[in-house]
Amino acid sequence: MSAEATPLSSTPRTTLRRHRERGQADRAALYEVLDAGLICHLGVASADGTPVVLPTAYGRDGDTLYLHGSSANGALRAADGQRVCVTVTHLDGLVAARSVFSHSVNYRSAVIFGTATIVKDEAERWDGLRLITDHLIPGRWAAARQPTTKEMAATAVMSLPLAEASVKIRTGMPADEPEDLDLDVWAGVLPVSVTFGTPVPDPKLRPEIPVPAHIRDRVS
Ligand SMILES: Cc1cc2nc3c(=O)[nH]c(=O)nc-3n(C[C@H](O)[C@H](O)[C@H](O)COP(=O)(O)OP(=O)(O)OC[C@H]3O[C@@H](n4cnc5c(N)ncnc54)[C@H](O)[C@@H]3O)c2cc1C
Repeated sequence: MSAEATPLSSTPRTTLRRHRERGQADRAALYEVLDAGLICHLGVASADGTPVVLPTAYGRDGDTLYLHGSSANGALRAADGQRVCVTVTHLDGLVAARSVFSHSVNYRSAVIFGTATIVKDEAERWDGLRLITDHLIPGRWAAARQPTTKEMAATAVMSLPLAEASVKIRTGMPADEPEDLDLDVWAGVLPVSVTFGTPVPDPKLRPEIPVPAHIRDRVS
């Protein structure tokens, strides 16, 4: 079965135990969470066995996730050929319940397990870096100067198959106990969202260079 046809939460370790109704079986839900995210967190056992979880940028090509970093990046080096876990989280709201116990958060999150590989093929490395760049600012790769051979040599690109993953989504209001509903306590959701602000030009920018369309598009 191809990865694209594989349902989510299909392995013991990606099976939700609590609030299983919040799990998503549709692989499209994984793509939506990843494509809407900006950064991920890479969890890997470092050389001495200590788990380390690092925030990093990413890009996606079908069922492959790409991460990058300095060739000297310890976590990426430790991850090569190793089992890793990557998460992407969107915090959509703070859920204030009538009881402290029932407080919660609204979110969309993805957890991916897999064996990471440092990409050696130069064309795939180039594509991976383009995907990561354009994931953060679509259109940026083509607009900016391309990497030199020296810059490529200083950069490690890691790939991770999206074969084994879970997605969990919570939406809606607090789930207070029926006996708490008449309490004199405000309850509801405080929405949270990520927004882009007005672009701030680099003071060293030549003044005749306007804000390009791909930057304006990111803001709107
Ligand atoms: C922003 C945020 C804040 C949260 N705060 C809390 C908190 O304070 N306390 C708390 O108990 N829970 C919190 N959660 C939920 C938490 O992520 C777990 O879902 C929860 O702990 C229940 O895990 P479990 O026992 O079902 O799964 P586990 O048995 O711990 O995990 C089994 C498998 O389920 C999958 N899975 C579990 N959680 C998620 C998830 N969120 N997204 C995608 N796949 C998942 C993974 O593949 C995992 O390997 C929070 C989630 C988010 C996104």
